[in-house]
Amino acid sequence: MSEHTTDPTDPRLGHGADQEPAPQNEVYLILSEEERAKGFVRPVRRSYVHDQASCGAVTRMSEAIAETYARNPLFYGSTYCVGCGMHRPVAEFVWDGTTERVGS
Ligand SMILES: [Zn+2]
Repeated sequence: MSEHTTDPTDPRLGHGADQEPAPQNEVYLILSEEERAKGFVRPVRRSYVHDQASCGAVTRMSEAIAETYARNPLFYGSTYCVGCGMHRPVAEFVWDGTTERVGS
C-alpha cells in the first residue's frame, strides 16, 4: 500500500505516465486534510475504469486520493491502472459506473 504526502517536493513521488509496466509509486501526493475539508466540487468516487480503448480494468484508490480528486478534479495528470500496471494520463479513464472522464 502506497503512502501519502502533502509535500510536492517529496523525492519519492513519481511524475507523469509510464510507457512500460511499473510498480505503483512508494508515495502519492494528496491535498491536505484542511484543504479537502473546504468542500468537494465532485462526488467522492473510489474507483475508475481504464476506458474501452484501453484495458477496461477497474482500479480502486484510497479515501484520501478519492477526496483529493473530489476537491480538485484537475489535481492529477496521470493515475495508476492495475490492469496495465502503469500510470497513464487521466483522460484515458472514466469514473466507474459513469461516462464522466477523470480529470474533467
Ligand atoms: Zn489499463
